[in-house]
Amino acid sequence: MNKFMRRPQKRLSFVLVLTAFLLLACSESASEYRQSLFIFGTVVDLKLRGVSNERAEEAVLTVDKAFQRMHKDWHAWKPGELSALNHGFVSGQPRPVTPFLLPLMTQSQVLFKQSEGLFNPAIGKLIALWGFHSDDRPSGPPPASEAIAELVNQAPGMDDLEIVGNQVRSRNPAVDLDFGGFAKGYALNIAIDLLREQGVDNAIVNAGGDLCVSGTHSGRPWRVGVRHPQGAGIMASIEALDGECVLTSGNYERYREHDGVRYPHIIDPRDGLPVRHIASATVIDEDGGRADAAATALTVAGPNAWFRIAKQMQLRYVMLVDEEGAVYMNPAMAKRIEFQGGEPEQLVISDPL
Ligand code: ADP
Ligand code: MG
Repeated sequence: MNKFMRRPQKRLSFVLVLTAFLLLACSESASEYRQSLFIFGTVVDLKLRGVSNERAEEAVLTVDKAFQRMHKDWHAWKPGELSALNHGFVSGQPRPVTPFLLPLMTQSQVLFKQSEGLFNPAIGKLIALWGFHSDDRPSGPPPASEAIAELVNQAPGMDDLEIVGNQVRSRNPAVDLDFGGFAKGYALNIAIDLLREQGVDNAIVNAGGDLCVSGTHSGRPWRVGVRHPQGAGIMASIEALDGECVLTSGNYERYREHDGVRYPHIIDPRDGLPVRHIASATVIDEDGGRADAAATALTVAGPNAWFRIAKQMQLRYVMLVDEEGAVYMNPAMAKRIEFQGGEPEQLVISDPL
């Protein structure tokens, strides 16, 4: 008799435990934790899926801590490791660099070379001359052409850096590092990695349209928007796959304005002048730093040179939009992009990369 009475109870408790487990699993996979952080002068929105709020909160705290350190130690002109190093380059003496900053330099050297110097984070002095080493929008007439020419002639480049172990020196006193065209993408990648380390495998980290993702959104790829070149909303959408980043560089966001002329913050290192021919470049890549650097380099390269530079940078998905709204891309990108409100009037599909 005892035997018969215990059995249904056992079965009942098993069913209860199973139901509770399934409910928990369902609510976990359906739940989304959202948080906004501030880094590099922009708001970064994070969405974490499939984990408890407690775990998500903790994971985001770790990311925030890393972001704060990046903000300080990768900053081009505010006190921190990079700006101290920049001051030291004038002496030509080697200085130690932390493992936190060093990879930005080594990776940038490669990207500099692949982009034929169009991505050149060593032109900090030029960027400062144009007034972009400031939190506020610069105004007034552009700098004197003599001052621009002087800096261009000194030709600072990433190949002027001599890196031996953790010791770095510059052979050229004009080198001044500014990772503004690279650090955001690099940071987004690190954020995704930090989240994964803490058991968050489904996330999106979005800095105003520049983003990296991990996993999926409830089993489907994350669908993300590509910013419109004129800054008004979204021009297309893309399904970002596990581990991918989508980075857009545009000359519509930060600029100097004088007498009705806009001078954007992306500088062509060859003549020291702001790039005006292209409105934006978008790159999808698993390496956020490379995608960011490439988007900047392709903006400089423009419609004539983008294909060669993209090939050299080993990119797989590239799109450019010029000031007239003409869209250029490689066939693999064309397969992935979905335009809002139909295809653009002028669409140029290149050869495969
Ligand atoms: P956004 O941050 O608007 O997406 P970018 O990624 O292109 O645009 O970054 C622009 C920043 O990169 C500038 O503010 C400046 O700090 C830096 N920069 C400007 N021109 C270059 C260049 N030719 N190579 C490398 N960095 C650049
Ligand atoms: Mg960039």
